[in-house]
Amino acid sequence: MNMALSLQIVVAAAARAAAAAALAGRVVPNRAPDAAPAPVHDPEAGHAEPHAPDDDLPPLPAGAERIRIPGCGYLVHYPLDENIVAVCPLHTDCKKKRTLKSGNRAGQGRCLGFLVSWLQSGSEYRDQKHHVNGFATTLPKRQRARQDFMQLPNADHWATKERPKASEEPDEPVRFV
Ligand SMILES: [Zn+2]
Repeated sequence: MNMALSLQIVVAAAARAAAAAALAGRVVPNRAPDAAPAPVHDPEAGHAEPHAPDDDLPPLPAGAERIRIPGCGYLVHYPLDENIVAVCPLHTDCKKKRTLKSGNRAGQGRCLGFLVSWLQSGSEYRDQKHHVNGFATTLPKRQRARQDFMQLPNADHWATKERPKASEEPDEPVRFV
């Protein structure tokens, strides 16, 4: 008799537990679904991100730096050579290089506007040969490209790589070849 009573109690308890579980099962989907776990994972993704963007790009020699120009490629600064190379992703082996040294060529040494303008023009040229050899830009386009560049994080640091401006010289040279 006692055993039968105990069994009844156990069965009743199990039924209550099952009912509670079923109730919980109905309640959970009605709560804010999975809101809590997401923020836990997001910071981890954030920590990984600074290294992720360049994973698809070739490694750089020691001392070289790279900056992405959103949507149109990137620039690489080679401090030993004192130049910047623009790399266009639209065409195979499509690059343009300019020096950071002062010199006799118009605008020489202040090449950021020119190179960013070149990257921004990539879709206007059908292949590497035309993009590299047929490129033409204007002062307004170079000025706009420089303004766009200066909006990027770390742009101020990059601007210090150019040769200093001559007195009265604007940020973007009036002439550049
Ligand atoms: Zn190109």
